[in-house]
Amino acid sequence: MTKYPDCPITCRPTVVEVDLGRLAGNVHAIARAVRRPIMGVVKANAYGHGLVPTAQALLACGVSQLGVAFLEEGIELRRAGITVPILVLGGLIGNQIGHFLDFELTIGASSPEKLRQIDQVAADTGRRAQVHLKIDTGMGRVGKRWDRADEFFEQAVTSEHCDVTGVFSHFADADAADKSFAAVQLDRFLRATSFFEREGLPTPTRHMANSGGVLQHPESWLDMVRPGILLYGIYPSPEVERTIAVEPVLSCKTRVVYFKVVDEGATVGYDMTWTAPRPTRVVTLPVGYGDGYSRALSNRGQVLIGGRRHDVIGRMSMDQCSVEIGDDSAYNGDEVVLIGAQGDERITVEDLAGWVGTIPYEILTMLNTRVPRQYVGDTLASGTA
Ligand SMILES: *Cc1c(COP(=O)(O)O)cnc(C)c1O
Repeated sequence: MTKYPDCPITCRPTVVEVDLGRLAGNVHAIARAVRRPIMGVVKANAYGHGLVPTAQALLACGVSQLGVAFLEEGIELRRAGITVPILVLGGLIGNQIGHFLDFELTIGASSPEKLRQIDQVAADTGRRAQVHLKIDTGMGRVGKRWDRADEFFEQAVTSEHCDVTGVFSHFADADAADKSFAAVQLDRFLRATSFFEREGLPTPTRHMANSGGVLQHPESWLDMVRPGILLYGIYPSPEVERTIAVEPVLSCKTRVVYFKVVDEGATVGYDMTWTAPRPTRVVTLPVGYGDGYSRALSNRGQVLIGGRRHDVIGRMSMDQCSVEIGDDSAYNGDEVVLIGAQGDERITVEDLAGWVGTIPYEILTMLNTRVPRQYVGDTLASGTA
């Protein structure tokens, strides 16, 4: 027994708000376009949206499988009661095979040696391993090379304790304006996986299309698609063809905690990087790089207060930052939008990526678990696929 009350603490003003209605709208838009089963990629805390609630919402929208990067993410989904196939895209690290079997997670097997180990552990423990074979067609990370895949496939079909239910590859630049390398990769994948037909064997589920593939390489949709960021309403690159309309699912908000007028010549923040050119109205926000709101936004970022854009001034601290509000007023408790819409204005994940000098993926996945997730809307709001 503890002397402290056991109740949720809800006073933190900074929240990530996830709109499940929008998420559903995006899934249905993708499903209508591709007419294939969807493996929803929910690695990295579902791109910052919250792993378990997001996964459950995706399943409610008809997503049939889930993809994660690491074993631990798959285990968290199983412990939450999720029973659909879950592929661990990152494959094996160290000796984890027993855990994969315990939690009935699908292993991404990337080499003959690993496949041998998997088959051995499955045999020793009297279980069957679920396996998808990973083929490297030019991404150059992990996977059996496409031009040496035959022996890998032969071994796979003779691995008695493995159910080889899938074969997959990953694009290096499916979201680029220049589609030539993606075409080369797809061609390599199709040639490699023709093994099964040549041998008169059933072809496992072939999947390759990430968000870029879904948007601009219909010929890569094959037997299943594997989008991540597009589910969340963000396009994978500025130049990708926006062939499917999606809307951002995530907003990030905080509240004003302090207001003051800074004298001309006074400085704000660590290292005194901002000096007031005149008496200046400044508010303090209780959010900083310790929440994943990047320090690179120091003297660069913008937020919405009262429906207008205002500049972050001075260094971003770990837990706080300062914003100049011009001639506007702001009161303690006023809503501040860091990502999302307020009035007629909107700050996008792409805006933040531009200020920070990174890609939208990193902006989303930086938002860490110190920020509570709140879910609004529901998956029934946008009809069915
Ligand atoms: C992350 C990932 C995806 C999803 O990528 P998006 O660009 O977010 O659609 C698909 N497949 C693999 C193997 C991945 O690692």
